[in-house]
Amino acid sequence: MSALLTIEGVSMRFGAYQALDRIDLAIQQGEFVALLGPSGCGKTTLLRSIAGFLKPESGRILIEGQDISRLAAHHRPLNTVFQNYALFPHMTVQENVAYGPRRQGATRTEAAERARAALDMVGLADFGPRYPREMSGGQQQRVALARAIVNQPKLLLLDEPLSALDLKLRKRMQLELKHLQAKLGIAFIFVTHDQEEAMTMADRVVVMHAGRIEQVGAGTDIYRQPATRFVAEFIGDANFMAYTADGDTLQLDAQGLRLPLQGKTPPSARGVAVLRPEDLSLSGDVAAPALSGTVTDVINVGSHSMIHADIGGQILVARHGGIAPSGLVPGAQIRLAFAPEHLHLIGEQP
Ligand code: ATP
Repeated sequence: MSALLTIEGVSMRFGAYQALDRIDLAIQQGEFVALLGPSGCGKTTLLRSIAGFLKPESGRILIEGQDISRLAAHHRPLNTVFQNYALFPHMTVQENVAYGPRRQGATRTEAAERARAALDMVGLADFGPRYPREMSGGQQQRVALARAIVNQPKLLLLDEPLSALDLKLRKRMQLELKHLQAKLGIAFIFVTHDQEEAMTMADRVVVMHAGRIEQVGAGTDIYRQPATRFVAEFIGDANFMAYTADGDTLQLDAQGLRLPLQGKTPPSARGVAVLRPEDLSLSGDVAAPALSGTVTDVINVGSHSMIHADIGGQILVARHGGIAPSGLVPGAQIRLAFAPEHLHLIGEQP
């Protein structure tokens, strides 16, 4: 069976600027996919191309095997939720949601029925008679969602729909959206520049950079096995150390530390090793490989602390669960141990 959505070699240029560069991507029925990347990487351009608001200069977009590249936006079997909700202020919530079905030819009664069902789905069954201005930001966002799902699209496109909400509400809405998506079974493509948001919600994360897809995978796989240095840096915090592989030994430039390769095949003889801050331990086993240095900064954030240490001209960051031990102050000596299997090797030149 063909994928729900197939994007084949889609490129888009604005003047001399290559906003999308030969994008290939397939999305399955019922999947929750996040398009993640820094500002300007092309996420919105890709979403708008799928929606039909932009016409790519080359490539094809197919839904269930059918080329929709030439279909006008309103004929595509999908819907879009925008950042600013775009609700009609002079209509009640119920009227806002019933508007779509009415435009598509549903009778007044049918449209009202479907609007009620959609509002019920987003937990706003009792809010139909209100006006948007009488709703909180989170509630308005849910009305926008109800409006987008009322016509039962196969695919819902969401362009940073939570970015106008404060952090607490945003976190709650992330989970609500995830649950709603599972309940609806509609595929969601969600644009965000927030890696935590992408990892909280999506089955698969598509990391974009400068108009290209850098990596696609489950959030945890991307975190543990970033394909490139860019991905490692963008998804969470990362320490990078240059390495040289020699036979079955790996040598880190940092302090000339030599480690057994333990069956790992390095992607190239020389590259960078990635080590996450939580993989550096302050109290590691004395037998574990370790780097020694001097503490430069200690950042206590309550639930955990981040310890920065200079290990000979290079700063490493270690994450410690809880408040940092009292002796760890700038200038103190520190030993940062790690398990060699936590080193992830990337074949890029250091
Ligand atoms: P953000 O997170 O800031 O929304 P994004 O990843 O969604 O960023 P896009 O909006 O897709 O980025 O833009 C990609 C690039 O294309 C940017 O450099 C942007 O300036 C440029 N661009 C987007 N739309 C146009 C346009 N209509 N005309 C010219 N350049 C554009």
